[in-house]
Amino acid sequence: MRKPSTAVKTIWGVTVNAPATALPAVVIGAGPTGLAAAAHLTGRGMETLVLEAGPAAGTAVREWGHVRLFSTWSELVDPAAEKLLSPTGWTTPDGGTCPSGADWAEKYLQPLADVLGDRVRYGTTVTGVSRLGRDRIVDADREQQPFTVRTRSADGTEARILARAVIDASGTWSTPSPIGADGLPALGEHAASARVSYRIPDLKDPAVRARYAGKRTAVIGSGASAFTALASLADVAKDEPGTHSVWILRRGISGSTFGGGTADQLPARGALGLAAKAAVDAGHADAVTGFRTEVIEPGADDSLTLVAEDGRRLDPVDEVIVLTGLRPDLSFLSELRLGLDERLQAPTELAPLIDPNQHSCGTVYPHGHRELSHPEQGVYLVGMKSYGRAPTFLAMTGYEQVRSVTAALAGDIESADRVELTLPETGVCGGAGLFDTPATAETDGGGCCAPEPSLVQIGTAAPAGTAAAEEPAPAGGCCA
Ligand SMILES: Cc1cc2nc3c(=O)[nH]c(=O)nc-3n(C[C@H](O)[C@H](O)[C@H](O)COP(=O)(O)OP(=O)(O)OC[C@H]3O[C@@H](n4cnc5c(N)ncnc54)[C@H](O)[C@@H]3O)c2cc1C
Repeated sequence: MRKPSTAVKTIWGVTVNAPATALPAVVIGAGPTGLAAAAHLTGRGMETLVLEAGPAAGTAVREWGHVRLFSTWSELVDPAAEKLLSPTGWTTPDGGTCPSGADWAEKYLQPLADVLGDRVRYGTTVTGVSRLGRDRIVDADREQQPFTVRTRSADGTEARILARAVIDASGTWSTPSPIGADGLPALGEHAASARVSYRIPDLKDPAVRARYAGKRTAVIGSGASAFTALASLADVAKDEPGTHSVWILRRGISGSTFGGGTADQLPARGALGLAAKAAVDAGHADAVTGFRTEVIEPGADDSLTLVAEDGRRLDPVDEVIVLTGLRPDLSFLSELRLGLDERLQAPTELAPLIDPNQHSCGTVYPHGHRELSHPEQGVYLVGMKSYGRAPTFLAMTGYEQVRSVTAALAGDIESADRVELTLPETGVCGGAGLFDTPATAETDGGGCCAPEPSLVQIGTAAPAGTAAAEEPAPAGGCCA
């Protein structure tokens, strides 16, 4: 006969020997998704505890606080959070404007965390999650055991918290992808770390501006972050002679390289690509296509030379900005039985809906607790982390995910199964720049809805005769 599981000591106000269902649902991360999850749980009268590694709500968002979001306020506030905030007199900032990351954190995330009060614990890093007394391989009574969440505080103190469920909303911000096209750091990348950054530079900060002004900077990547970096460096170039970017793309330039432009249903997102194109057109950046960096060689004059797998060498640069995507940190979940797609590292059922081989258009099907579940019942990866390495995550996706997941945890399956998400389309499809395989019979005209993008001649093309120059533009797509 199975014994009911029990908690072993009082932690966060939970009664000694309480049944597992009386334990809190632990949320990892006080970012937009984690706080929304806590708001939904609180709204349902369920115990919750948010564990945040940083010193404030939205710690990761604050690190890119200088970046303006392409979403408007109306797309960045979770409905359950708004319900919690309203009685405090809080109102949504002007719904039609796009906040900066700092605005999002200060005007929404922190007030929300403040309403949640001691349900949010800062300076608490989750270092491990498992089942109480059961490592990954033990089956016996596994589902009856509460989760055990191991934490480390800012002063180094370690603790264990028991939980009835774990919602991992820890994002991907702390684990940027390296330069190498094979997913590994380029040879010499670590040694060059003093001049390699993985963040969009805050060029309004005088110290950061001094680092890039008058310098040659390689910008590696093909998403919204790379567009933003190229556009901001072009602004600096207007005032600071000698400022120049070399934009390194792993694949060729096509009609979709700069995003959907005016066809993007989020106009500010479309504008990012157009600003990057303007930087190239104005001569502030040269685009180098089909360049898969293998080595970074230090020069005698402190410069860095990027060498591609095909042997091409670029003119030396002073700085390198790497914006090749983010990836999930799964290390602290290794004792759990997760079902993850082997390519994207996203939940198995969700992965096909967001696979950048098929979708960059934002036509992600509404999904919730079923697509986000794992063989290990009661654990969910949500928010940015749920997308694994796929690049098209939007905050409103995360809000819908946690609405569904928390309804399921409350036993409200009817609500959990309800479909409540319509996402704006990017205006392009057929690959988001994450993958750089040539078009094949399988991908050609594939994707979900678009005409084939045309090749655009712009900037510095790969030398004639190289594999990159001959690589066809990715084709197919889903929405244009
Ligand atoms: C530059 C940039 C611009 C973006 N612009 C938009 C936009 O315009 N519109 C849009 O919809 N989306 C945008 N996004 C995507 C997405 O909405 C945001 O990244 C959003 O912050 C994701 O929220 P999250 O809560 O899932 O993760 P995060 O915001 O990354 O929050 C995760 C939290 O978990 C904490 N944490 C991490 N590890 C641990 C741990 N082990 N223990 C405890 N805490 C931990 C972190 O400190 C952090 O506070 C943008 C993303 C970036 C990077």
